[in-house]
Amino acid sequence: MPIPFNNTYANLPDGFFKRVTPTPVAAPKLIAYNHELAAELGIDDDFIKEESALDIFAGNQIPEGAEPLAMVYSGHQFGGFSPVLGDGRAILLGEVVDINGIRRDIQLKGAGATPFSRRGDGRSALGPVLREYIVSEAMAALGIPTTRALAAVASGEQVVREAMEPGGVFTRVAKSHLRIGTTQYFAAHEEHGNLEKLISYSLQRHYPEKADSANPALALLESVIEAQAALIAKWMGVGFIHGVMNTDNMSLSGETIDYGPCAFLDEYDPAKKFSYIDRGGRYAFANQPSIAHWNLTRLAEAILPFISKEQEKAIELAESALEKFPKIFEALYIGTFCRKAGLTDGDSDNWALLEEFLELMNSQKVDFTLCFRHLSTELAQPESPQFLSLFSEQVAIENWLIKWRERLTQQGIKTEESLKIMKESNPIFIPRNHRLEEVIRAGKNGDFAPFHRLNKVLSNPFTEQPDASEFELPPTPAEVVPATFCGT
Ligand code: AMP
Ligand code: MG
Repeated sequence: MPIPFNNTYANLPDGFFKRVTPTPVAAPKLIAYNHELAAELGIDDDFIKEESALDIFAGNQIPEGAEPLAMVYSGHQFGGFSPVLGDGRAILLGEVVDINGIRRDIQLKGAGATPFSRRGDGRSALGPVLREYIVSEAMAALGIPTTRALAAVASGEQVVREAMEPGGVFTRVAKSHLRIGTTQYFAAHEEHGNLEKLISYSLQRHYPEKADSANPALALLESVIEAQAALIAKWMGVGFIHGVMNTDNMSLSGETIDYGPCAFLDEYDPAKKFSYIDRGGRYAFANQPSIAHWNLTRLAEAILPFISKEQEKAIELAESALEKFPKIFEALYIGTFCRKAGLTDGDSDNWALLEEFLELMNSQKVDFTLCFRHLSTELAQPESPQFLSLFSEQVAIENWLIKWRERLTQQGIKTEESLKIMKESNPIFIPRNHRLEEVIRAGKNGDFAPFHRLNKVLSNPFTEQPDASEFELPPTPAEVVPATFCGT
């Protein structure tokens, strides 16, 4: 078995999925293959050289051991509940247990229609495939929990979107594809037996240390709350905007999932949103923690009867778990931002200082990534032109720098130590939107060199790369991408 499948989800009751086979594509071509990830999954490095490999990642051949299926789920989309969503353009091939003992899903995205496709074609355009490949791998390199990219294939077919576009198939790897929306599906359809099975399956798979808990539903809720709080704090720390934080796009494992209209901040602006479909800004940058909290409340509602048979008791337990979310999140968020400024202690004075810094960044429209990065330049070489030139108005930031230096001195650690913390917390390279657009434009014309280049640069986001310094820079006014379109 070239891919060492070891499936468990396919053994769950029929109500969890519909079996489906990928629909072959006309003329597949391999664009990218993630050798490192393949090794982690226990796939032989030579496998990709075999003819069958391309056919497998295109959906033209079902690999030995795979049990292809489309998963069921519901979801709140922009606040409105859809009782039946499910995998409409994704097919789970199966699971492998990786070399670290962690169970991982292998899924094809864009491999053809499923029983959940409704009016959709079950296909992916090439643009979103390239985008998800680059951004998910960049997130992994930034140390942020995420689904991963194993392969990208050009299908050799066109798909109909606003215009005809070249199609692609993406192979995604995830700790699982269980979402808050999966629990909502069984709750909405009153499939209590399956919901109970899902709770114990999810807990066993993602939080095995709590599998023997006396109250598995509560243990699951608490674990997902902690995992999501940690995840969102990390997003905020690098200026990531997910763009579609619907409950079907929030995983129970705490990985970032579903890279549709996501983007990274250039200028710091808490109200920033990129997604074309997010007209009200529901999923704007600074709303992400409260939306995560809202989504987690939907999880609690779905599994409530299993938290306690007595409704009042269940609500009390769920509420006290949910109440912890803002506190857990805030501590991690403040800690993340203080470390970005070289401050080890996330106390309220340090946080007030950081808030002032963010406010200056916002009012003077300073690039978020460059600003933190050159704050470390400023620490190494005071009054560095790189840092101060980011601000149009100097007095306020110079005053701020004085207070910041005082804080650094007070914390009593060596400058080298603060510098090290800052360099580890502030990426030099992020997948900037204008670079992604460039990659996609070239890819649609059959030129994947920019894709490979960007992917390589982003694999080392914290390390200076003198031959790639242009990738550090924000867009020029002409390069700014004001809006992103959904991944469909
Ligand atoms: P997403 O925007 O990826 O979160 O997807 C929301 C829902 O729409 C999911 O049920 C998807 O499976 C479905 N969907 C998205 N794009 C397509 C497509 N091209 N064909 C069929 N279903 C789709
Ligand atoms: Mg989705």
